[in-house]
Amino acid sequence: MTTPRDFRQPALVLNLREAMAQRVTRPWTLMEVCGGQTHSILRYGLDRLLPEGVELLHGPGCPVCVTPSEGIDRAIALALEPQIIMTSFGDMLRVRGSTTDLLSTRAEGGDVRALLSPLEALRIAEEHPQKEVVFFAVGFETTAPSTAMAVSEAKRRKIHNFSLLVRHVRVAPAMEALILDPRSRIDGFLAAGHVATVMGTREINDIAHRHQIPIVVTGFEPIDLLGGIYQCLSHLEEGRYGAMNAYRRAVKEEGNLPAQTLMKAVFDVIDLPWRGLGMIPNGGYCLSPAFRDYDAEVRFSWDPQQPDLQSACRSGDVLRGIIKPDLCPAFGTSCTPEHPLGATMVSGEGACAAYFHYRG
Ligand code: SF4
Repeated sequence: MTTPRDFRQPALVLNLREAMAQRVTRPWTLMEVCGGQTHSILRYGLDRLLPEGVELLHGPGCPVCVTPSEGIDRAIALALEPQIIMTSFGDMLRVRGSTTDLLSTRAEGGDVRALLSPLEALRIAEEHPQKEVVFFAVGFETTAPSTAMAVSEAKRRKIHNFSLLVRHVRVAPAMEALILDPRSRIDGFLAAGHVATVMGTREINDIAHRHQIPIVVTGFEPIDLLGGIYQCLSHLEEGRYGAMNAYRRAVKEEGNLPAQTLMKAVFDVIDLPWRGLGMIPNGGYCLSPAFRDYDAEVRFSWDPQQPDLQSACRSGDVLRGIIKPDLCPAFGTSCTPEHPLGATMVSGEGACAAYFHYRG
């Protein structure tokens, strides 16, 4: 049985470094999409092993970082309703909306609870039948299946005091939007291995062919990442494009079909604004009409009072790969993990937090 140590062996790392050095003849710019990959790259210093001229950009692969502030405002407004128990993933509670965050809302008296899974929210709903339990459902296609499972279970078990505030986002349309950005310098992508575990490789293969770039599905250990980078660079050097799978121990071409079937039954695809990136066509999910009764936005009215405030935070440019976090004037001074100004410093998967921890 293989262990993570097998994918961190120094001899293999050095072999890949040497292979890349021999393969590369000109500068290339790659973007890793996933925040987990960004952390591994910085933690192990992998970007410093690449041939001269090969640059890694850190993409929008941190789900709480890209959750629109309007969604957080809405979750906060619901959390202040006395009959509501607001639940979400722990990381999400610290991310500010227009003016404040869910954790501060809890300090003001809102019943806000951090959960590991939306299925826990179902249990809370059963334990508190006199309350309305709302789960603020965020994240990529990796967490969307568990949300779909929870609401399907709620319907099957006739739990009527449970609902969802859905802001799930879809990664492939965001990758395409980044390619189409006129400022884009992306020559190739390292696609997120865990998203591909669910969605497979067909969707990104279509994008790769539409835009004639290589996209390599990559894991999270040093050998995974360097192997993915090597494959991507090899394709660029040979003028080839398409999607490749460098994470075969976890990802099948077709993905997780039962999870995809469940998601299709529960969600519809919609245009959705990503924080820092703006409106992404087909960039998110909402509940399908069959699950409308479980939609918190239908069940509870909301009158937005606060405009979306502009701030000095440049996380939008960080998420697009326009700047590295340490080029933001606030990095490490007025913005730290203890006092974050932007979502990319709040989240454990955010690029700014990764730079602070490993390059601070
Ligand atoms: S360092 Fe802080 S202020 Fe600057 S982009 Fe990152 S999160 Fe925003």
